[in-house]
Amino acid sequence: MRTLTCIVCPIGCTLAVGEEPELPVSGNRCPRGAVYALEEIRSPRRVVTATCGIDGGAREGGLRRVPVKSSVPCPREKIPELLADIYKTRAALPVKSGDILIADWRGTGINIFAIREIG
Ligand code: SF4
Repeated sequence: MRTLTCIVCPIGCTLAVGEEPELPVSGNRCPRGAVYALEEIRSPRRVVTATCGIDGGAREGGLRRVPVKSSVPCPREKIPELLADIYKTRAALPVKSGDILIADWRGTGINIFAIREIG
């Protein structure tokens, strides 16, 4: 038996997942919890937040980096590789919130977009 906290909504149900092959889920108040638990066990993913550099260095207010986020959760085992590519990226200014700085990262469908405007 494995115990997880559902992160799909703020209620945070405690989920219990039984053994393979059935992987029965209990403790969920709604079906989304069961879906989350099974994905978390079979193929864990996380939304990635990080920062990337700015072409030409610091800008307004001494900002040196652009905060970014992944458009969809990334498979957990690929996160170090994704972060390495984000850290190598240099954004050309101006950057608007929502601008895609890395499109379809390595064919995964993951876009990396800015979450702050820097001009
Ligand atoms: S199981 Fe449903 S109600 Fe409970 S935390 Fe997850 S999404 Fe929210």
